[in-house]
Amino acid sequence: MNMEQLGPDIIAAARRVELLVLDCDGVLTDGRLYFSSEGEAMKSFHVHDGQGIVSWQHAGFRTGIITGRTSPIARARAEELGIEFFLESVKDKAAALDDLIGKTGLSASQIAYVGDDLADLGPMRRVGFPVAVNNSVAELLDVAALVTSKNGGFGAVREVVDLLLKAKEGADVE
Ligand SMILES: [Mg+2]
Repeated sequence: MNMEQLGPDIIAAARRVELLVLDCDGVLTDGRLYFSSEGEAMKSFHVHDGQGIVSWQHAGFRTGIITGRTSPIARARAEELGIEFFLESVKDKAAALDDLIGKTGLSASQIAYVGDDLADLGPMRRVGFPVAVNNSVAELLDVAALVTSKNGGFGAVREVVDLLLKAKEGADVE
């Protein structure tokens, strides 16, 4: 992501972000679901995203996951990374986002949301910094302030974190 390609409105919106909210499947993973006869057997997360989330939190910012699925694997990853909010089995992601706004006392303009599919449209329409991963369904691209160059599960979240932190530093990058 080249910051020089971003307009001043996007950089200003990025600077306001205090809470980064992520969909799980298709954003933190590549969206493929691996099943055994026992149920969900595996998900793959990218180490670059994990390090990005850790850096984001180390810089004093907050993170949440809102997922429609119920997944001990996703929960374990969230716990490993010290992610503050983990909302699973969510049927209405916009309502879940409103819950987070209530819990944190933040305004929607202080939240970034990263999605990949139609269930993410509601929260993306609410927040100040809506992001679609590169391989999102087409409907998200019109709503997103930013579309990552990387695909979900392959460093897209790291790309968002790097952009947010660089915007906050006010740095001229690359
Ligand atoms: Mg998804």
